[in-house]
Amino acid sequence: MRRFEESELVLATHNPGKAREIADLLRPYVDAFYSAADLDLDEPEETGLTFEANAVLKARAAALASGKVALADDSGLAVTALGGEPGIYSARWGGPDKDFDLAMNKVHEQLGDAEDRSAAFICVLSLAWPDGHVESFEGRIEGAITWPMRGGKGFGYDPIFVPEGHDVTFAEMEPEDKHKMSHRARAFEKLMVSCLSANDP
Ligand code: IMP
Repeated sequence: MRRFEESELVLATHNPGKAREIADLLRPYVDAFYSAADLDLDEPEETGLTFEANAVLKARAAALASGKVALADDSGLAVTALGGEPGIYSARWGGPDKDFDLAMNKVHEQLGDAEDRSAAFICVLSLAWPDGHVESFEGRIEGAITWPMRGGKGFGYDPIFVPEGHDVTFAEMEPEDKHKMSHRARAFEKLMVSCLSANDP
């Protein structure tokens, strides 16, 4: 496992909200952050067939183009009775308008009266070096699909996902409670433990 010993990190995302959230989380380990937008990097097409393939593809492209270590993520909702769909297509199910009411209705319709309501949110983080080396970490949280939608917090598919051991959806939880258990938090925990060393205070 290669550790991150550099002082600069490129966040391979064009989403400023995501870049800010990741930078806040990793501030103790990194001196300077750049986003793909800051460096005017192209957004590669997500042609991979797994979360990991897409995260690796985005991180590698940013590391090669910038000459710096780059971090990318790919995430989504995998519904068991739908064979893991929408999966890597989670964002695309929202259509060009990123309409997640539409995407959640599609999950509901396709599930029909299937007995198995189980699902998981999955996040893969990939850290790529300019020489092509990559380390990837997967975080997941198991749960079940509920209908109708409940709650106004969060984003994406949160209103129809009830995490295992809870009665409320992600969209009904306080964001800090969701962030303690989410797929993203679990992937970041693995990345921090395996690859990052805190800067001296
Ligand atoms: P991407 O990883 O930015 O391509 O986005 C993946 C898509 O998965 C998002 O657009 C959301 O629809 C969905 N998704 C990922 N994580 C979450 C989450 O924590 N809550 C709800 N939806 C999520």
